[in-house]
Order: sequence, then structure tokens, then C-alpha cells
Amino acid sequence: MFRVNRAWSRDAHVGGNNARFINHSCRPNCYSYVDAKTRTIWIRAGKRIEAGDELTYDYNTEGDKSISCRCRPDCKTRL
Ligand SMILES: [Zn+2]
Repeated sequence: MFRVNRAWSRDAHVGGNNARFINHSCRPNCYSYVDAKTRTIWIRAGKRIEAGDELTYDYNTEGDKSISCRCRPDCKTRL
């Protein structure tokens, strides 16, 4: 689920595209942008991305922080 705003969330299992496979990272190479008018979620490059690099963005979760982040071996973030 991607929270668009207080009222709307998008479920990638319902009409989602390949962006649903993009993983979280605390040091991402992409960022998410929500077009408020259309409620469209865009994943945009935040830096130069070489062919073969994994695409990642920060999920900015507000959950109960029960999942350990695996973006790198020494990451202490909990999602
Ligand atoms: Zn991390």
C-alpha cells in the first residue's frame, strides 16, 4: 500500500505496475512524488543511475517499526 494522502491509498496488487517491486533504501537513488490532482504516484531518479543498479526509494513509513531495514548490512533503521 502506498499512502497518497489522508484519504487515499494505492494498492499495487490492484492495477499496479512494475514499480511495486522497487525496494526501500535509507540511501535511495529514487524518490516518490505524488501528483495531487491525479493522485498519480511517480518514482523519479534522484541521482544518476547506472544500468544494472537496483532502483530504491525511501518508503517514509509511519508504522510500528517492527521490520528491520535490509538496505545495507549495518543499517539500524526499522520500518
Ligand atoms: Zn536502511
